[in-house]
Amino acid sequence: MLFTEPLEKVITNPPIRDVRARNAFYPSSASVRVMDPQTGRPKSIGGCLRRQYYEITGVNPTNHSDAAGELKKEMGGVIQELMEEKLKAAGLWMASEKSIWIPKYKISGRLDTWCWDPESMKPGKTKTPIAIEFKSTGRFGEPGLINPSKGKLMPKEDHVCQVIPYLDFFSQWPEMFHGQPMRVIIFAIGRDSLNWKEHMVFLAGKGHYGMDLKDDKRYAVVRNEAGTFQLKYITVAGVYSRYMQVAEHLRQGKVPERDYALQYDNELILKMAEKEMISKTDRGKVASAVKRDPEGREPWLKKGDWQCGWCPFKDKCWHGIDHQAKPVISQDLPQQGKSAPIPITEPKGSL
Ligand code: SF4
Repeated sequence: MLFTEPLEKVITNPPIRDVRARNAFYPSSASVRVMDPQTGRPKSIGGCLRRQYYEITGVNPTNHSDAAGELKKEMGGVIQELMEEKLKAAGLWMASEKSIWIPKYKISGRLDTWCWDPESMKPGKTKTPIAIEFKSTGRFGEPGLINPSKGKLMPKEDHVCQVIPYLDFFSQWPEMFHGQPMRVIIFAIGRDSLNWKEHMVFLAGKGHYGMDLKDDKRYAVVRNEAGTFQLKYITVAGVYSRYMQVAEHLRQGKVPERDYALQYDNELILKMAEKEMISKTDRGKVASAVKRDPEGREPWLKKGDWQCGWCPFKDKCWHGIDHQAKPVISQDLPQQGKSAPIPITEPKGSL
């Protein structure tokens, strides 16, 4: 095991940490709050408001990934580079990592890739740009990808939320798209098999860039091999109003409520079992637990949201633990003689 230890060390504790100033909201945190028809409870799709609040106010993360977890995060970038090489070879690539800025809502983002729509390059057609967002998932077809008919997958709803600011921003220039709406392809790739599915997302409904949210009726539409699906619950107004909620909490200095749960309450677990939202094995465990502990003193099933399981603020959020302030620039730097010290950057930002 010559290399495991030094590699794990550098992956989990890099000499210089990647820190972005948080003086803006990011499309990657986009979310909506909807009523879940199965449980009859409101539920969040996408980024947690409390997590955004912690990030923007410079709270030190309390939970860090192990080496494998860190590498998984980097795999998305590797896959994007690989696929862009192929798009270049196909003569379709236009540009990568182009930024947007939506001043009204202080949203700053970067679209992965711009390409020429292959259909628009056929004789007699007008060359039209189309954007691509690469989204890697652990397992191809993993739970969370809506499956409208066997073998035909949908994108994750989180990913649909994340492209809404881009779709809205570029709707200002319809001439760019020659009569079509701005379209983003969510390129969903499984890290396990490198199989992929393409999902085209665009906006439908009345509204335009910059309009008052109460009048904006636009929502997401997904088109893929399974058909065309109107996701009327993922709206432009819904996404922006969630960012505005974080802004309001920041103004008031008040931590938002949690959007997700580390452990579901027993009432919800029972509902999920009744509605067959959990596996047969888990339903069996719930049935035994209810018999054993009818008053529900213990959780009937150990189950919660993955968002909390992977959250870098898990201990802070659920146990109020503030770990020792972790310096942005690791103290564990390689020896570099007498060069000037690297300044420590405060990860704070304001809106
Ligand atoms: S632990 Fe869960 S609820 Fe708390 S900030 Fe993280 S994602 Fe949100």
